[in-house]
Amino acid sequence: MSVVQKVLLVTGGSRGIGAAVCRLAAKAGYRIAVNYVSNRNAADALVAEIEAAGVEAFTVKGDVGVEADVLGMFEAVDRRFGRLDGLVNNAGIVDVKARVDEMSAARLERMMRINVIGSILCAREAVRRMSTLRGGTGGAIVNISSVAAVLGAPGFYVDYAASKGAIDSFTVGLAREVVEEGVRVNAVRPGIIETEIHASGGLPDRVAQIKEMLPMKRAGTADEVAHAVLYLLSDEASYTTGAILNVSGGR
Ligand code: NAP
Repeated sequence: MSVVQKVLLVTGGSRGIGAAVCRLAAKAGYRIAVNYVSNRNAADALVAEIEAAGVEAFTVKGDVGVEADVLGMFEAVDRRFGRLDGLVNNAGIVDVKARVDEMSAARLERMMRINVIGSILCAREAVRRMSTLRGGTGGAIVNISSVAAVLGAPGFYVDYAASKGAIDSFTVGLAREVVEEGVRVNAVRPGIIETEIHASGGLPDRVAQIKEMLPMKRAGTADEVAHAVLYLLSDEASYTTGAILNVSGGR
């Protein structure tokens, strides 16, 4: 009997937490679709690294906040692997530090389009393929939230925090909606993690500045988040759905 090799799509899989998830998932035996939006070199390098370890992987360019791109991304996975077993809704952005009374509508629309609508569109496409109600064989979705959803990120980016609050509600709602269809939906809430996202929000020294205020006196690593994601994707979490797991070092 041939063993089916599971397929995982990781949005924003080219760098940071997403790349750590791709590496660990490849080790766990998944074939990987690595989504990215602009940094092709990083995505290509990651796929080369995974393939060198003997695991099938490919890059798929697309902005999760653009519906046509999302459709194209999932069609590319259909063509390449012909099945889907898991989605990690990891692609996400912050913006520059600002108070709410300084935020433009354009900023808010971009934040919600990528972080919230993007995740919901990707989950929609995944459910269309994995739900037993639609002829699929089941699967798992892991959404990447943030402890900002609980802390609110006042003075930094309340809009980002609100977008992650939406991810938490979406996780609980979708989990219950598809619970009888073989699809589990969970979320991970990272705390401060050492990735390039802080520099992209204009705060390259964020980790160094906040370190001493964190309960463990250090930021987390992308790997520490990825281990939690892999657990929630795995059959070991077969009775876990609608859960939101803090990976925040006690913050
Ligand atoms: P990162 O290092 O900035 O990497 C972001 C990844 O997302 C990159 O692969 C990037 O692709 C991709 N991406 C960005 N916008 C996209 C879009 N519109 N469509 C598709 N892909 C897109 O970020 P990270 O720190 O790993 O964060 C990953 C997730 O964890 C995010 O949802 C973030 O909110 C969440 N999180 C992070 C932290 C933290 O402290 N780092 C804490 C809590 C939650 P390119 O390479 O092409 O640019």
